[in-house]
Amino acid sequence: MSLTFCCVHAHPDDEASSTGGVLRLLADQGVRTVLVTCTNGEFGDAPDGTKPDAPGHDPDGVAAVREAELAEAVRVLGVSRLVRLGYRDSGMKGWPQNDDADAFWSTSLDEAAARVAAVLDEERPQVVMTYNENGFYGHPDHVQAHRVTMRALEMVDYEPTVYFNAIPDSVMVRLRERWAEEDRRRAEAEGREYAPDPEEEAMDLGTPDAMIGAAIDVSAAVAAKRAALAAHASQIADSFWLQMSEEEFARAMSTEWFVRARNPLGLAGTVTDLFAGYR
Ligand SMILES: [Zn+2]
Repeated sequence: MSLTFCCVHAHPDDEASSTGGVLRLLADQGVRTVLVTCTNGEFGDAPDGTKPDAPGHDPDGVAAVREAELAEAVRVLGVSRLVRLGYRDSGMKGWPQNDDADAFWSTSLDEAAARVAAVLDEERPQVVMTYNENGFYGHPDHVQAHRVTMRALEMVDYEPTVYFNAIPDSVMVRLRERWAEEDRRRAEAEGREYAPDPEEEAMDLGTPDAMIGAAIDVSAAVAAKRAALAAHASQIADSFWLQMSEEEFARAMSTEWFVRARNPLGLAGTVTDLFAGYR
């Protein structure tokens, strides 16, 4: 049986940060990989670091840079087919851009879902990945990517196995320590008092370890994952990922976790292969 994996991501760079390892790993195993990227990422940082809410931020210029960065990441990860839906970035939760007529957030669910369903129809992936109903961390475009994908799955005439990306609680504890450390360092460098962001702290990002449905060892693909992240230079050049040494990155990033959201094969427990049951 020929195997196909499809992941539906919100922005250029999400494919690298949450599925860079499995995309490269599956490609190396001869699995066809299809990446759907919903938005152009207009409200990311500009290449010179200008923040999206700062004067002089050029959304269309940012989108053009990110399109080229995505093409490079896709090359590094060996993605078989990239489908860019081309919706406009909705910005962070509560931003006025949420309501732009062409923002992904205000797009008709059925219209966007029909486009994803057309890809699923054509490719017939056995395994589909997207985010949970919180969009993993609440970003409107990630929430919408979840909704659109789940609606698309209702439109097709077969049932793939579906995974949401996840971080086990036990790992999230360590990640939060690292983020706090990074924030503290930044505050110090900028000469301000460090104060934890209460909104960030209240965000429910982790998944109980017992609920993890797939834990994939991507150590064989971790160098490609790092290179794919680095390809998104305008977004993550100074991120905590790339501040890690290569060895540290390999240690910290060598597993990708998922929760099983649709389970037509009746798989049980934590599998170590996203195509468990299909090979
Ligand atoms: Zn994103």
